[in-house]
Amino acid sequence: MKPFEGSTKLLDEFIHEERIAYFSMEIALTNEIPTYSGGLGILAGDTVRSAADLEIPLVGVSLASRAGYFHQEIDDLGRQMEQPATWDPADWAVPLSAKIAVPLEGRLVWVGGWLYILPGHMNGRQPVILLDTDLDDNQDEDRPITHYLYGGDETYRLKQEIVLGIGGIRMLQALGFEIRQHHMNEGHSALLALELLHRHAYPSEDVRPGESPFNIPYVRELCSFTTHTPLQAGHDQFSYDLVQRVLGDYISFDTLKQLAGESHLNMSQLALNLSEYINGVAKRHAEVSRKMYPGYRIHAVTNGVHPFTWTSNSFVELYDAYLEGWCHEPELLVRAECCIPDESIWKAHCQAKQKLIEKIGTDCRLTLDPEVPILGFGRRMTAYKRPDLLFGDLSRLESIARQWPFQLVFSGKAHPRDNEGKKLIQSIHSHIRQLAHIIPIAFLPDYDMEIALKMVAGVDVWLNTPLRPQEASGTSGMKAAFNGVPNLSVLDGWWIEGCIEGITGWSIGDNSESASEGDVQSLYDKLENTVLPLYYRDRRGWIQVMKGAISKNASFFNSHRMMRRYVCETYIR
Ligand SMILES: *Cc1c(COP(=O)(O)O)cnc(C)c1O
Repeated sequence: MKPFEGSTKLLDEFIHEERIAYFSMEIALTNEIPTYSGGLGILAGDTVRSAADLEIPLVGVSLASRAGYFHQEIDDLGRQMEQPATWDPADWAVPLSAKIAVPLEGRLVWVGGWLYILPGHMNGRQPVILLDTDLDDNQDEDRPITHYLYGGDETYRLKQEIVLGIGGIRMLQALGFEIRQHHMNEGHSALLALELLHRHAYPSEDVRPGESPFNIPYVRELCSFTTHTPLQAGHDQFSYDLVQRVLGDYISFDTLKQLAGESHLNMSQLALNLSEYINGVAKRHAEVSRKMYPGYRIHAVTNGVHPFTWTSNSFVELYDAYLEGWCHEPELLVRAECCIPDESIWKAHCQAKQKLIEKIGTDCRLTLDPEVPILGFGRRMTAYKRPDLLFGDLSRLESIARQWPFQLVFSGKAHPRDNEGKKLIQSIHSHIRQLAHIIPIAFLPDYDMEIALKMVAGVDVWLNTPLRPQEASGTSGMKAAFNGVPNLSVLDGWWIEGCIEGITGWSIGDNSESASEGDVQSLYDKLENTVLPLYYRDRRGWIQVMKGAISKNASFFNSHRMMRRYVCETYIR
């Protein structure tokens, strides 16, 4: 297809009705497209996937990130090595028929892009716009602005956020989209609201001294904001010197400081001030956010995962046989408890476990025993997730393993600049060697959607040990539930809502809002006295918990329910 001709016809299908514009810095479209780094991008992908299945008119907006995030290799010393993860949008998407420009450092930078069409599992499909500055029209220094996901310094990040927010709005308009609501998935895209202010300014003769020249209440009506970070330090901030240098006189500093903070341009603050509807991603996260941002009305829409994407083949077949229609209406999974025979659940699980064991055999040259329980931990490797919590007291861990043998599998990438995260990967590798005589432990390199699915389906217990209250929601445990795998997790994020002790899985520690010292011993107590004995001594009882995970967690913690809530409470209000 020739550049700039391709998308026009395809877009006709999508521009005849008003749509929701869903903005996200990262988005997991499919495993082969490396435009995501972790849960935020997976959530964005699942959002668009559910919108496609439910035929909710939406358009995704993100960056092309041609240089991707990175591929992870691990050397002999357990050190993470980052390899490029480039992809060619031309292999997957159609060039857009429009290009627009954004102001940057006093010049104009051209933004083109790509139309990726995300197929739903059923009839629907959704357009996703991937913005791209790698155009002949641009100077060499501007071409890579959209190349690296979460790469570069803060100037680079600000430029990316200008392209995403301001460029995104301009591109949607150039393509002919009519947008009824703008949904910001995290604050990265909040500059879009400034662009909307410009479109909804009062005639200058109507503005009295000291009054805002912009129709702020109207712009608020057009915007919704989902925050994902329960820590102030996790929110993007830019110094006004930098903003001045990069964004120039795009908007007055009086207006900016009023909306985005006196000392810094705080992207979350901007999003909060210019969004009518604001939500956290779990009930506890909304409570914590309300304390962090007093005076704002912050709702809670607990995250979910996309049913079909996160269910392994053997469980897809099982649900298709017993609960027809579950993919569209995952609520039907509540019936799993009574309607699916125990033997069928166990058989489907053993198939998924076998596939994981094969993968570990190939990639890690380690042979796991299908008769012995596997505990899994897979997610971004970063300090607050505490992937090494399990190794907090090695002599106790060994004594548990002697009584009740178990195996472990880990996977996850650390951000290239997260040195603590990288040290955690090294520390896991040293434990692999140290404990080899008693606990078989695998680390699968290059965590991605495919490995995630193999792991959440193939382990017997899904482990999560975040430092409270930093796990805003967490979603990998929901994926496990779709595969009948119970969670053993610290009570934070979604698990506060999902955990019914001994019925859907098990908790670690107490339910308080802040960290506690006792998590390590609590984890060992649960393993030693509850989880492992149940696995070995009462297989029926174990399968009951697997069914509890399916019928009480998967039926609820899915992105169809989440999207139906966003539509009713956010997009239409
Ligand atoms: C689901 C998923 C995540 C998120 O995992 P959490 O445990 O919720 O942090 C991260 N990365 C990949 C590849 C995933 O599939």
